[in-house]
Amino acid sequence: MAQKKDYYELLGVAKNASDDDLKKAYRKLAIQYHPDKNPGDKVAEEKFKEIAEAYSVLSDPEKRQRYDQFGHQGVGGSGGFGGGQGVNMEDIFGSVFGDDSPFGSFFGGGGGGGRRGGQAMRKGSDLRIKLKLDLEEIANGVEKKIKVKRYVSCNTCSGNGSKNGTSLKSCTTCNGQGQVRKVVNTMLGQMVSTSPCPTCQGEGKVVTERCDVCFGEGRQLNEDLLSIKIPAGVGEGMQLSMTGKGNVPTRGGIAGDLLIVIEEEEHPELKRDGSNIIYDLRLNFADAALGKDVEIPTVGGKVKIVIKPGTQSGEILRLKGKGLKELNSYGVGDQLVHVSLFTPTTISAEDRVILEKMRTLPNFQPKTDKNERSIFDKMKDFFH
Ligand SMILES: [Zn+2]
Ligand SMILES: [Zn+2]
Repeated sequence: MAQKKDYYELLGVAKNASDDDLKKAYRKLAIQYHPDKNPGDKVAEEKFKEIAEAYSVLSDPEKRQRYDQFGHQGVGGSGGFGGGQGVNMEDIFGSVFGDDSPFGSFFGGGGGGGRRGGQAMRKGSDLRIKLKLDLEEIANGVEKKIKVKRYVSCNTCSGNGSKNGTSLKSCTTCNGQGQVRKVVNTMLGQMVSTSPCPTCQGEGKVVTERCDVCFGEGRQLNEDLLSIKIPAGVGEGMQLSMTGKGNVPTRGGIAGDLLIVIEEEEHPELKRDGSNIIYDLRLNFADAALGKDVEIPTVGGKVKIVIKPGTQSGEILRLKGKGLKELNSYGVGDQLVHVSLFTPTTISAEDRVILEKMRTLPNFQPKTDKNERSIFDKMKDFFH
């Protein structure tokens, strides 16, 4: 099967060519290879078809992007492999180029690579840490000190990796460009792409004498003690980021970010429901019937609440504003106290006498109050 040629190559333009450049290049070639000008010349005719196809793809922004990313296959090129429909692109590219030339950087990097004339600012990797917070800390917000092992710029060489910070020279492989052009024959046809220079790893410069402290890396592992303010109302799985507190890349560039993933520690008694806090209060029958002041936990500490005489099992008491602050708003949730009655499970002889008596007394007989709303209705009220 004939190998498909790179569209940019066919038109003789760079990967970053503007639409205008493309048009000019195409026009020139189309005139040169036009069948009218080359009667009977099969080679010229073939060439004319190729450049027409190349231009039709590259002049369409969407197709061009797909082509940049996936090559001919991305724009329905016919020069690919047989039965290509169900084939995983990554599998193929992976097997063609091997592990050291990942699909992403080879194909994806081409378009972006040609754009920059010099060196783009390289960014180091992000760091991700988990931070456990208890409910009180979440309720009030907290300032945490965290130890983070991260790469920082080497002091000795100011981060460029060379001895005393001076022994650098321009890379001869790429002439200081940081990139090399490659022509690769693949199953998809001939591909031309820029890729990071293997000699200088895309840096454009090489260290002739290494810094003794960082061994030419330009960075050192350091344990930083960072202070981070956690706003009130954060939740499980939320991610906060500290810009520039991730790793510095090797030999200069800007640091990545530190990403802090919030983990919520479970409270032994309080449950969180969004910005509301739910607490289960178990009362004995006498307290519910006679009423009582009870002390209950909240995210702001213990508070005393009044249990009114005649409180029913299943009632929900609302402590307004005793919940959590809502993140990015002025709202504050409530604490909902779910009342349930405790039924004794162990009964002494003395208990039995009292209970047997209660059993028959008229006030102890369950009443259905037509005016009293069902628990279901009350629940609906609380959650809407
Ligand atoms: Zn150093
Ligand atoms: Zn180089």
